Amino acid sequence: MPTPDTAIPSRAPAEVSADDTVQPFEVATLDLRGRVVRLGPAVDQILEGHNYPQPVAKLLGEAIVLGIMLGTALKFEGRFILQTKTDGPVPMLVVDFITPNKVRACARLDKDRVAAAIAAGKTDAGSLLGRGHLAMTIDQGGDMSRYQGLVALDGGTLEDAAHEYFLRSEQIPTRVRLAVAEEFRGDGGPKHRWRAGGILLQFVPRAPERARVPDLDPGDAPQGHTAHVVSEDDAWVEGRSLIETVEDIELIDPAVSSERLLYRLFHERGVRVFNAVDMTAQCSCSRDNVEGMLRSFPQTDRDDMVENGVISVTCEFCSQTYVFQPTEVADERIANSE
Ligand SMILES: [Zn+2]
Repeated sequence: MPTPDTAIPSRAPAEVSADDTVQPFEVATLDLRGRVVRLGPAVDQILEGHNYPQPVAKLLGEAIVLGIMLGTALKFEGRFILQTKTDGPVPMLVVDFITPNKVRACARLDKDRVAAAIAAGKTDAGSLLGRGHLAMTIDQGGDMSRYQGLVALDGGTLEDAAHEYFLRSEQIPTRVRLAVAEEFRGDGGPKHRWRAGGILLQFVPRAPERARVPDLDPGDAPQGHTAHVVSEDDAWVEGRSLIETVEDIELIDPAVSSERLLYRLFHERGVRVFNAVDMTAQCSCSRDNVEGMLRSFPQTDRDDMVENGVISVTCEFCSQTYVFQPTEVADERIANSE
């Protein structure tokens, strides 16, 4: 009997970097899977549109990469919202991902505190965010329930929060790397551009007991207390160590394609790539949505919103302003009686 041809075609990694893509991959020999996110024009459009102070833009850029990384894992149509709520100079970040490939994002900041943080040189993620939580919400629309995962932000980075989330909630050994940078050019094109990138790696063995993770820090256990030690699986230790060697520049450099990066990391073990997904920065606001939102308020609230004879609403994500005559959004009976 002839053996069926099940060989997976293999080829050299693509040399050309594809911006605004998510590249899923698998390293079957180590039971690893993950994805590489690489953003050019999409992240530039969002961050340039907001014109936040540089460290805030960088922080939001990291959140965008993380949001796309997690949102593209959804196996259904819907929305994935990543949102921080903290007590620092940047009390809120929101990334709104709509399957399969649309993303929008914004930040709220306390301008004075951000300026003070910049003056004091305390612009790392932990200092800007402060303490609070990171919420991840899956919204399938209609009557489908929203699922919310919560993880504490405790003066650390978004990477730290993502690790904590996967460790405690999903119990999947996971490593995430996020990088954002500004590109300055002098070739006649745009002089300044944002770029961002990241890689997610997860250990998903067929035998679930291999996915054990070391015990959490015993904290204030009495001295001499021996923690119950569980060693990590060798395959995961190898994968984790490789990810830790990735430099920020490799995640954002247009000269290093996602496939090149994966090849560089995993060529000894063999890495398989799946179809990449293209990302676009696109807001989902519309005049109809804003009108519906305004109609849902009590008339007294709408009266309070009238300025210079009109109600104007500016979308926090894309800065588009929608202007309404008060009668356009008034309760039917009030509109009719006028
Ligand atoms: Zn908008």
